[in-house]
Amino acid sequence: MTTAPHHDTPPWYGMHPKYLRFSPVTKVFLLLALPIVLLSVVSVKPLWQWGWRVPVYAYAQFGTVTSAQGKKFPSGAWTQGRRLLVYGAPKVDAKSVALAADGLRSMVRELGLKLSVEELAVPPKGAAAALQVATAASRGLSFDFDAFEQRRLDDRGMQYAEMVVVPAQFKDPSWAWGLTNYPAGLSVLQQGETSRDLGRHEGTHLLGYDKHDDMPLYVFGYREGWVPAERNTLMMLLPKTSDALSDRAHDALLNFWRGKEAREHEKYLE
Ligand SMILES: [Zn+2]
Repeated sequence: MTTAPHHDTPPWYGMHPKYLRFSPVTKVFLLLALPIVLLSVVSVKPLWQWGWRVPVYAYAQFGTVTSAQGKKFPSGAWTQGRRLLVYGAPKVDAKSVALAADGLRSMVRELGLKLSVEELAVPPKGAAAALQVATAASRGLSFDFDAFEQRRLDDRGMQYAEMVVVPAQFKDPSWAWGLTNYPAGLSVLQQGETSRDLGRHEGTHLLGYDKHDDMPLYVFGYREGWVPAERNTLMMLLPKTSDALSDRAHDALLNFWRGKEAREHEKYLE
């Protein structure tokens, strides 16, 4: 039996910082990754605004989305069509659809976006079949958002975005009241939970804000509660009493669309 020689490399957590060595690749990674990790936890107003103009905070809004048949579309290409259609699945009451549309329309106006919000009495072509595919009859009724999105991309491509009210719980996560994906231009609301506020909340996601007001935990420069739980704003994950868009969310979206305007040489804002 031998005892370990004294000069054996200690485990990484036992190493003296003086002897830590990083390869150039690791160094570059740390230099790039650390600021990003930090900025996603705490930020300052100018960086926050700039980060929405360029794909830093909004990076998830770029790339491609894929249809059920494997067709690829550039994320958010629906904005070129400037149309947002709102409708309900068959048997959904017209009142819920009207509330959802009202909420979405109010957000489009609040941001000054030149997009039309159109309420439909019946689902557009192909949507009824896609709704059936997405609604499985197992363990009660549940709605498969991803399956619906992929089918809709085959049917409508990127001609428009849509907000749909369905009479079912979501398959995943089952606790959600609404699910939204800006890249594919799709928002789905649960009928039982649909309100004007939910239309506004999911509408904000649909217009490109894929965050909630608790991450970054704090953005210096805004008057907001230090502790996220104190914030009574529209874009909290758990519903609050206020339907007001926070200043941080408002600035994020405004800069997101300004960045789009500059890149695409289009005019979206009034
Ligand atoms: Zn949300």
